[in-house]
Amino acid sequence: AATASQVLKADGIRKAYRGVHALDGVSIELAAGSITGLIGPNGSGKSTLFDCICGFQARDAGSVVLDGRDLKGLSPQRIARLGLRRTFQQLRVFPELTLRQNLLAAAQAAPGFSYFRELLRTPAVRRHEREMAQRADAMLEELRLERLAGALAGGLSYGQKKLLELGMALMNEPKLLLLDEPMAGVNPTLVEGLKEELLRVNRRGVALLIVEHNLKLVFDISHSVYVLEQGRVLMHGSPAEVANDERVIEAYLGH
Ligand code: ADP
Ligand code: MG
Repeated sequence: AATASQVLKADGIRKAYRGVHALDGVSIELAAGSITGLIGPNGSGKSTLFDCICGFQARDAGSVVLDGRDLKGLSPQRIARLGLRRTFQQLRVFPELTLRQNLLAAAQAAPGFSYFRELLRTPAVRRHEREMAQRADAMLEELRLERLAGALAGGLSYGQKKLLELGMALMNEPKLLLLDEPMAGVNPTLVEGLKEELLRVNRRGVALLIVEHNLKLVFDISHSVYVLEQGRVLMHGSPAEVANDERVIEAYLGH
């Protein structure tokens, strides 16, 4: 059973795409407030595991428990509202909206938001809007994007879009954030800032599960690391244990 200090327990996750076993019985446990790395060769099932945890893909088998609550049958939007957010390997910002509008759009999945209240525009709605606007501005400042608050997201550099996407995922203070290759394609000068931002977010109590090809970064910031290979957990251990494991080295060099 899940314990109180566990933010996520995924058990026996299976997923096949037309007979190809993308996930072949994967189980992971994440401690509340922890940083966990998820590594493995291309095609080992990392993104599929994210999809199956967040409800973007239906699982063939297995259970996911967030903070003691079984997520069976819940939509991705519902799961996000319960405090499980993710970023995507393929960026998903709205290019035709400003940065501030992007953050506000992301916040509409926040707890307490209701379209009926929006229609009625009660004082509670206006208070909620003011709160969200303040939160968006604070987020832009934290991401050092405040000068671009009114600019269209489509005009950002790739690295800035990644930062914005991170901010969008953080608007409703998730318990757990899944990051799919947050550093991929990011200018080396931005990587350090992005890393510091992830550590800041984690210090606020947000648990992180990070898929990332920059292994140095993963080993540097993770408390523990899972290694996937061909849809199975090859090993789980401390960064030092994983970095020095023969099977892990083999899994990477063998591909
Ligand atoms: P990773 O993120 O570790 O690179 P993926 O989860 O993307 O791995 O892929 C795992 C396996 O599942 C691969 O063999 C991949 O080709 C397959 N796969 C992933 N998504 C799909 C899909 N939508 N349709 C068919 N096969 C898929
Ligand atoms: Mg992937």
